[in-house]
Amino acid sequence: MKRLQLSIVIPVYNEEEGLNALFSRLYPSIDKLGMSYEIVFVNDGSHDRSGAILTQQFHMRPDVTRVLLFNGNYGQHMAIIAGFEHTRGEWIITLDADLQNPPEEISKVVEKLAAGHDYVGTVRIHRQDTWFRRHASRMMNRLREHITHIQITDQGCMLRGYSRHIIDTINQCREINTFIPALAYTFAQKPVEINVDHEERFAGESKYSIYSLIRLNFDLITGFSLVPLQWLSGIGITLSIGSGILFLMLITRRFLLGAEVEGVFTLFALIFCMLGVILFGIGLLGEYIGRIHQQVRERPRYLVQGLLEEHDTHTA
Ligand code: UDP
Ligand code: MG
Repeated sequence: MKRLQLSIVIPVYNEEEGLNALFSRLYPSIDKLGMSYEIVFVNDGSHDRSGAILTQQFHMRPDVTRVLLFNGNYGQHMAIIAGFEHTRGEWIITLDADLQNPPEEISKVVEKLAAGHDYVGTVRIHRQDTWFRRHASRMMNRLREHITHIQITDQGCMLRGYSRHIIDTINQCREINTFIPALAYTFAQKPVEINVDHEERFAGESKYSIYSLIRLNFDLITGFSLVPLQWLSGIGITLSIGSGILFLMLITRRFLLGAEVEGVFTLFALIFCMLGVILFGIGLLGEYIGRIHQQVRERPRYLVQGLLEEHDTHTA
């Protein structure tokens, strides 16, 4: 198979308003690098005209464009995984389709890859997102820092570069719910981080609802750490010891003072608190077990409806 220098992977979900603006900035900035490259777009089951626009773009630049069309919406990370499986480049760079990651910044990532780094992480310096997103992100970054061994400053920035060996290793993984920057980091040997610019979404709205953001963060936590389960055991042990002591105290009072009913509400409060902890625990266990359940079914992770690419005459 023909080896290229650079592969760009871009997941696309309902981005019809911004795609043409993306093309007009993306292609020139990569052409300028003077490298052999391909751009792999993955249409993640868009309901709008994104698929048609991508097809049109493929016909405009068939030499460097490849389009993977999913039959449904499998999520940003699965779209990127599928893109990875179809890349042929020595260096692979991921990018959002909404122009929040300026295509002009790709050259900075390439520079670091050329310097021999196999993982180029990025930090958004002027992050253009809502107050809520920025603060929730900061909290999740801190939490991840504490409970996993993954050291990345800004896990949410998807403009990142990887070398071929990392992508080959990711391609061997069969994970369904995953978080690519973290997964790639676990395989990195010489990671580096750089600052990149961040822009406001060119058009449309974020494709992540609160619910899907929570789900994504659970993917990150459950996929890379067992610490929450260990915390739960810790809380369980502490509560057991606490309630053991309480029991001894109450039974001693019972024999010293006889039956009494005062403090019933305190008891209720304690019970409700423990019920909360128990329900939280069951929910957390469910997050892990649900993912095990999805994983053991071993269904295909995604279904490709079509692949647009130029016939490779150089195939060995
Ligand atoms: N995306 C996708 N599938 C989804 C959700 C998003 O392929 O289910 C793509 C989307 O088209 C964009 C990128 O993932 O290219 C990032 O999405 P978005 O900008 O909505 O996320 P945010 O920047 O708000 O984190
Ligand atoms: Mg975005």
